[in-house]
Amino acid sequence: MKFIPYIKTLGRLAADLVFPISCIICGQGEKFLCESCQAKLTRLDKQLCVVCKKPAAYGKTHSTCVTRNTLDGIISALSYTDKRTKKLIGTFKYQFISDLAAPMSHMIVEEITKQGITGYFAEFTIIPVPLHKRRLNWRGFNQAELLAEALGKNLNIPVDKTLVTRAKFTTPQIELKAEQRKTNIENAFETKNTTVGRYLLVDDVVTTGSTLNEIAKLLKKHGATEVWAATSAHG
Ligand SMILES: [Zn+2]
Ligand SMILES: [Zn+2]
Repeated sequence: MKFIPYIKTLGRLAADLVFPISCIICGQGEKFLCESCQAKLTRLDKQLCVVCKKPAAYGKTHSTCVTRNTLDGIISALSYTDKRTKKLIGTFKYQFISDLAAPMSHMIVEEITKQGITGYFAEFTIIPVPLHKRRLNWRGFNQAELLAEALGKNLNIPVDKTLVTRAKFTTPQIELKAEQRKTNIENAFETKNTTVGRYLLVDDVVTTGSTLNEIAKLLKKHGATEVWAATSAHG
């Protein structure tokens, strides 16, 4: 594991020599995401309830939808229907472009600020959606962890990367139909401790919400009083 940052640095260095850094969307500038493209990405016009997918104030799960098995709310910055956002997230996930964590967390903070609920998360602990060890070893890093660290710094709240682990090696949700996703992810996570407290789960993108709801269920079962999520994009 100790080699990974070293290899990543070497890899980045080699990549920078071959491909000088430029915006992955427009190919201009000297950053992976230029300010102009960042500003143009389609924002989510309304926050959505993670259960019924209908608009919900602040992204808070409707009182008629929330249970012990769901999130209490979710905040997302971008619309995943925007092809540029898909490209951005794909690059972040599969091409080791860790520098994208900063602009992506910045856009989440912008949305939280826009919703006027910045102070709401003061007592929360951030938890990145964990990868299975096998997948982490293969990929070298967990993009949700990088995003979580950047968001933790921005919101000035702690990040706990070990409280929840992935016990089951599952088929990537993206390869499954919506109705298969819930079964696929069932009991995929575990925790060895009590989880009394409030938590903010972090991931790059949410689609059906099955993964985030599954973690919320686990945390609430072990003592959590409230579980929210923040993602870069909402599909
Ligand atoms: Zn650009
Ligand atoms: Zn609802």
